[in-house]
Amino acid sequence: TVRVRIAPSPTGNLHIGTARTAVFNWLFARHEGGTFIIRVEDTDQARSRPEYTQNIKDGLAWLGMQWDEGPYFQSERLHLYKQAVQTLLDQGYAYRCYTTEDELNQLRESQKARNQAPRYDNRHRNLTPEEEKAFEAEGRKPVIRFKIDDNRQIIWNDQIRGTLTWEGSDLGGDMVIARASSREDLGQPLYNLAVVVDDMDMKISHVIRGEDHIANTAKQILLYEALGGSIPEFAHTPLILNEQGQKLSKRDNVTAISDFYKMGFVPEAMANYMTLLGWTPPDSTEELFTLEEAAKHFSLDRVSKSAAKFDWSKLDWINSQYIHKIEPQRLVEMLAPFWQEAGYKVDLENNRPWLEQVSALIAPSLTRLTDAVEQTKVFFQTDIEFKEEAVSQLQQDGVKSVIEKISEAIKQQDQFTEEEAKQLIKTVTKEQGVKKGLVMKSLRAALTGDVKGHDLMQSWLLLNQKGLDRVRLEKALA
Ligand code: GLU
Repeated sequence: TVRVRIAPSPTGNLHIGTARTAVFNWLFARHEGGTFIIRVEDTDQARSRPEYTQNIKDGLAWLGMQWDEGPYFQSERLHLYKQAVQTLLDQGYAYRCYTTEDELNQLRESQKARNQAPRYDNRHRNLTPEEEKAFEAEGRKPVIRFKIDDNRQIIWNDQIRGTLTWEGSDLGGDMVIARASSREDLGQPLYNLAVVVDDMDMKISHVIRGEDHIANTAKQILLYEALGGSIPEFAHTPLILNEQGQKLSKRDNVTAISDFYKMGFVPEAMANYMTLLGWTPPDSTEELFTLEEAAKHFSLDRVSKSAAKFDWSKLDWINSQYIHKIEPQRLVEMLAPFWQEAGYKVDLENNRPWLEQVSALIAPSLTRLTDAVEQTKVFFQTDIEFKEEAVSQLQQDGVKSVIEKISEAIKQQDQFTEEEAKQLIKTVTKEQGVKKGLVMKSLRAALTGDVKGHDLMQSWLLLNQKGLDRVRLEKALA
């Protein structure tokens, strides 16, 4: 049975790369009828924080990826890693190493001087207990190293990249699997050990993760062998590059899923776009789909080997497609936080129908939810700025009396229906002997301070419900 996991480290917010890896794991699990597990890799005590764990869980849930098991926390499983360290020590696969940071630096320097790649020279592989004690008497603390045979070749059939081969001699010498405080201590495990112990214990069938872990996979295969575990399938997903072709990083400002939320992207669009970052659906012309739909067709062999370039305009396009289809009842709730942040008064409890109408009016012209702030200013703010074009429109011949007539009518009647509003425009057009276009354009200028914008009649009626049309026309006449 298929069991996959996403294994984020809570040392930062949910990163787009981790989220995309989660998407592929989730899709694979759903396609295979398997289990999707979340495991929080929080062994780095100094850098892990609960608010990051929360951000990661919230981000996955927001994107629509429910997990079937977990979250498991590595910090609650330390006994298992210690057991594994003990086993590896007992069976001669691992040993204590007392080389100091200074000594390691010297070693690296001399390797550099000889144009050699930096690697540990395995100098403490065969220390006697007396030698270990002597080092400890000097105040040295051990790390536990796992022996790596330089002559080993590690080969696996990667589900995305095909056959991969790694030379043991390219793994940097015996690897550190734990840091201890003394000979009596089994230490704090490091990533490669903890991940293998957990993937074995959790019976993970497929490890799907970023290609930056390929060298780790080679090391981990050696650990599986030593610990007697059965080796899962591996699939290494391509990197995500920014538009300049560099690895997406902190420099790109937005890398966390919560940043995309703040920028006004909707979860369905994000999930959809991330699915396309490296995966091609069998019918490659179909670009809009839910995660559930993608799961029906998902397979690892359609994941690309080459890096995926982040394409903002495509993400924007997908986002707009989704926003245009969102029902006003839901859209209003998605827009509310952005309006509130802009300082607009949003009372969903008492003013919902009006807010839904505003949402419906602007929906077709939104690319990001954040666009709503600018586009609805005119409905939420009493005072608005009049654009130059609007001012000059209002100065045209005959416009003043048109606005006066409408303004008077509004003073006599508070609320208009659409029919009544249309009728009023007709009457004014006729009485003033002007073109309807002039009336409409002038009314828009007076009501919204602009010469273009959303449907004028709808805008007017929304302003009318708030009594704002009266205020605007008076201001335009002043
Ligand atoms: N904690 C690791 C990471 O965030 C997990 C890698 C893996 O999936 O093994 O990169």
